[in-house]
Amino acid sequence: MSEGVAFVDGHYVGRDEAKISVFDLGFSRSDVAYDVVSTWKGLFFRLDDHVERFLASAAGVRIRCPYGAAEIGQILAECTFRAGLQDAYVEVLVTRGQFQPPGSRDLRHTTPNFIAYAVPYVWILPPELHASGAHVWIAPTPRIPDAAVDARYKNFHWGDLTRAQLQALDAGADVAVLSSLSGHLSEGPGFNVFFVKDRTIYTPGTNVLRGITRRTVFELAAEVGVEVEAGDYEPDRLREADEAFMSSTAGGIMPITQVDGRSLGDGKPGALSWRLRELYWAKREAGWHGARITDLLASRRTA
Ligand code: PLP
Repeated sequence: MSEGVAFVDGHYVGRDEAKISVFDLGFSRSDVAYDVVSTWKGLFFRLDDHVERFLASAAGVRIRCPYGAAEIGQILAECTFRAGLQDAYVEVLVTRGQFQPPGSRDLRHTTPNFIAYAVPYVWILPPELHASGAHVWIAPTPRIPDAAVDARYKNFHWGDLTRAQLQALDAGADVAVLSSLSGHLSEGPGFNVFFVKDRTIYTPGTNVLRGITRRTVFELAAEVGVEVEAGDYEPDRLREADEAFMSSTAGGIMPITQVDGRSLGDGKPGALSWRLRELYWAKREAGWHGARITDLLASRRTA
């Protein structure tokens, strides 16, 4: 059996037993709200923030979540503990479920389906490539506009991200960055984007998921005395940046060294990007915004 434990239909099962019905609207219409949190060396990072965003995503797309924040935290801790993982990628999702009664089509009458799982930690850019940095491709496919699918609610409408990522791979790059329909930088498949010009950090402010790692970058930048500005930026700002990086639960802070086949600066990870990356991991390992898996479970067992 492959590594990982899932919580499905109220039971903990091995990764290979984690299945849903083909009649679930989560499958047939990508009708899902989800979130991903990680653990590193046995510590969750910003668990409460992720659970809060998850519940906001579910409410935002009008899917009723059958569990509250405290229960969700416990379920995620239990999955991770049972999987025996210290460094884990921990996903929680709620699908709209199946129409009730079967064969009807009233979206207000469905049975939401809550699922969670813990699997080994996932990297958007493998750690051995961090020292050389990511090569990104500003894809021709635009990001779905917020007016259609609000990117603040973490969702499975990945058609644009997937199409853009395939274009990036065809171009020989590692990852895609998408622009909005209005032609401003937005985000990539699973990450937020930052660039640095003259010691100020910039990040797209609209048509993006408000990443928890993105929020963390704001905090780390304040700590090192560097300003971060969120706004609408033309793709050329990224192409002409001094340095750039991406942020995600799946990999933390990861340097970008090439955009559309051209190197940024000297082609090595920028000094500020690297400093933030190092600080992120050092602070995480020291327990910053952390909750230990075993403490979460102990608090339930004594409750
Ligand atoms: N943008 C998108 C589309 C994502 O799917 C993700 C993460 O999964 C992010 C940004 C980064 O968000 P976070 O830092 O909360 O992982």
